Amino acid sequence: VKFVYDFTEGNKDLKDLLGGKGANLAEMTNLGLPVPPGFTITTEACKTYLDSGEEPAALRDEVSAHLDALEEAMGKKLGQADNPLLVSVRSGAKFSMPGMMDTVLNIGLSDKSVQGLAQQAGDERFAWDSYRRLIQMFGKTVLGVEGELFEDALEAAKTAKKVTVDTELEAADLKKLVTKFKKIVKTEAGRDFPQDPREQMDLAIHAVFDSWNTDRAKLYRRQERIPHDLGTAVNVCSMVFGNLGPDSGTGVAFTRDPASGHQGVYGDYLQNAQGEDVVAGIRNTVPLADLEKIDKKSYDQLMQIMSTLENHYKDLCDIEFTIERGQLWMLQTRVGKRTAGAAFRIATQLVDQGLIDEAEALQRVTGAQLAQLMFPRFDEDTKVQTVGRGIAASPGAAVGKAVFDSYTAVKWSRSGEKVILVRRETNPDDLDGMIAAEGILTSRGGKTSHAAVVARGMGKTCVCGAEELEVDTKRRRMTVPGGHVVEEGDLISIDGSSGKVYLGEVPVVPSPVVEYFEGRMHAGAQDADELVEAVHRIMAFADRKRRLRVRANADNAEDAMRARRFGAQGIGLCRTEHMFLGDRRELVERLILADTETEREESLKQLLPLQKQDFVELFSAMDGLPVTVRLLDPPLHEFLPDITELSVRVALAESRQEPHENLLRLLQAVHRLHEQNPMLGLRGVRLGLVIPGLFTMQVRAIAEAAAERKNAKGDPRAEIMIPLVGTVQELEIVREEADQVVAEVEAATGTDLKLSIGTMIELPRAALTAGQIAEAAEFFSFGTNDLTQTVWGFSRDDVEASFFTAYLEKGIFGVSPFETIDKDGVGSLVKLAAEAGRATRPDLKLGVCGEHGGDPESVHFFHEVGLDYVSCSPFRIPVARLEAGRAAS
Ligand code: ADP
Ligand code: MG
Ligand code: MG
Repeated sequence: VKFVYDFTEGNKDLKDLLGGKGANLAEMTNLGLPVPPGFTITTEACKTYLDSGEEPAALRDEVSAHLDALEEAMGKKLGQADNPLLVSVRSGAKFSMPGMMDTVLNIGLSDKSVQGLAQQAGDERFAWDSYRRLIQMFGKTVLGVEGELFEDALEAAKTAKKVTVDTELEAADLKKLVTKFKKIVKTEAGRDFPQDPREQMDLAIHAVFDSWNTDRAKLYRRQERIPHDLGTAVNVCSMVFGNLGPDSGTGVAFTRDPASGHQGVYGDYLQNAQGEDVVAGIRNTVPLADLEKIDKKSYDQLMQIMSTLENHYKDLCDIEFTIERGQLWMLQTRVGKRTAGAAFRIATQLVDQGLIDEAEALQRVTGAQLAQLMFPRFDEDTKVQTVGRGIAASPGAAVGKAVFDSYTAVKWSRSGEKVILVRRETNPDDLDGMIAAEGILTSRGGKTSHAAVVARGMGKTCVCGAEELEVDTKRRRMTVPGGHVVEEGDLISIDGSSGKVYLGEVPVVPSPVVEYFEGRMHAGAQDADELVEAVHRIMAFADRKRRLRVRANADNAEDAMRARRFGAQGIGLCRTEHMFLGDRRELVERLILADTETEREESLKQLLPLQKQDFVELFSAMDGLPVTVRLLDPPLHEFLPDITELSVRVALAESRQEPHENLLRLLQAVHRLHEQNPMLGLRGVRLGLVIPGLFTMQVRAIAEAAAERKNAKGDPRAEIMIPLVGTVQELEIVREEADQVVAEVEAATGTDLKLSIGTMIELPRAALTAGQIAEAAEFFSFGTNDLTQTVWGFSRDDVEASFFTAYLEKGIFGVSPFETIDKDGVGSLVKLAAEAGRATRPDLKLGVCGEHGGDPESVHFFHEVGLDYVSCSPFRIPVARLEAGRAAS
């Protein structure tokens, strides 16, 4: 195998092997763009190194060969005393992990070659600045020295000289600083800073490999669901210098606005600076547009390159560039992260530009992004005081208590508080605080700062660079214009779409996207209109493409109507137990406690018209669309009073010598029905078989409601669903009774109801015997919640609180199987049952009605195994429609 690729050898599709950065550097090189020459060490080499602790045997020679070629091409040797070649050693994994892993610049400088560099550049200050940066970065990331020690020494040097920015330090100052830095390395790392350039390079390469497994990189991957076994590539790239004076500089740019999608000039530029300076917020950057005045030639070239990249990648790209004495160099590009709203707009813009088609547009957005756009926003009409305005870095409306460090953010959020993390700027150490917070507010940094990039990636609200706010993290407070002080714990609200910061709690209103789905659009801001228009178009693309139908889980006419507005094509699950609560509970109680047939029949008779009315309403709300009604499912004791409470009442009545015969009878019944493990007890079809008349009453109510609708010229399409079936015999018995009741109602009302009867598949035995069950069922609906519970043996109501966190941390699963379908286990049962069912009955209708029906990843799975529909809660319907469209394109 080959472990090292020259930039001229790779291309953008080799991200697995070369990482995103390496693959794109190669792509740009081959597009003829000005990329400093270099080579990439593959992720395979990294994996070997991480698995065995040693680099693969062939690696050293391969690196030497590529280094020779590089030296040849550049006409200088790595670290050569009189004319040194310098390189950067840069991490770069398949998926971008901003700031999570390490990069070392200026490798090849030593006490000797620093002189050579000074001579070569004719600039002594520059050479010493580069050398101190090398020792600083190398010390921190390769030798593990506390970074603050270097920063403090740099501050001290500036204070001593009475200057504020590092560009004001002169060659002599920097030279002294180098001596100081070397001392720090010696004391802290217990070794000298290596003077041998190749040793520097090799150590840096290993450090990049190792950075794959730092705690913060692991945490980031868990958060972003990036697999842990990919490894990182390492890019060795010849240095270009933005710190060679005012005609040099470094910058970052987007080919269009990552917040709105609008085309234009977006980015930041910093003169006389290197590498991270621009994102670290050390000095104030200027907007990219100003580069036109600073260096017109480079600016024009950059604009040209940006348009080349957009047309080539057919997407928004972000880039890093450096200008060395008027010469432009491209250091990185990738398809850029963007806000959810921008993703929808960019996708439609690119379709309009003819760059991508509808199917591709669907790949450019996700259900998670759509869900994010459906979040509520701040009410703009509320009279609240804006106390600051920063950059709208990541949208959303977040309210919480101000906290000024990550530790507190995590601690408070664990105890159930909503917090806003307020920092001057964030760095990778703030990651867990950012995860814990509702939103992030910084007083420094731009759209490309760490806070902004990471928050956008997490879909978390963020306002950054709110410069009027004086954040004092040491004293845990911030001062707003006018002098008001926000202390730790004070409520603040931040709007990631406008960048506004408010004191106190601002009320929220529904998002324009939800208003649109609700059919309640009123002319709003242009921004909202553009977004809604884009969502509307993408939803139309999805509806055209998808094969899966989308139904709703809804129990009443109101929910059903909303679901219909959101695009539901029926009800996949109507839970009748919700119709048994409230003031009807007493009737149910009497039914359960009935001693005689007549008593029981009396309660059933009273329940019947109530149930029927529920269904009439539901069927008319869903006229013309299928409605699956599930017969009573939960254990009976759920309809009875709490056992402890009741015992107390009985004891109390006893002690007061009050009559308590009925209470006692109730208590006995509650005891009789009490189960250790009710989820596996008397529920579902078992109830129907044990309580005579219960299911037939429900079936009659459904049939009579349907008949009434039919005779009123409606189009009811009821489907009766039997829960918790484990064997076909259960279903056959219930079915026989049901068929009879339906026939009676049809005869009495002169209708032909065409009711279908089917079952839930939610027990492993049902799935395994699906071929038999299909003989008595016209449809299956997979109850994936119970199926997950019974396949794993997890009690769904307990596990999330007891051990799931530990399981997630240990990586046993990346996501709860109750959230995303466990394809290997539960999923293969679904697949098997679907196939067996269809073998028996080719026109068997197949759906799913668990929580998974609205989960993006699960929707793709259900598409793949050939189900007919998914059913989910009304608010998830747009997400399910979109994902079903994406799955099919
Ligand atoms: P990250 O993945 O964190 O962005 P990079 O590898 O891109 O890390 O490098 C960090 C910074 O150093 C970036 O600003 C990058 O542009 C700059 N840089 C990297 N290599 C070079 C080089 N060869 N010459 C000049 N600047 C470089
Ligand atoms: Mg970079
Ligand atoms: Mg169930």
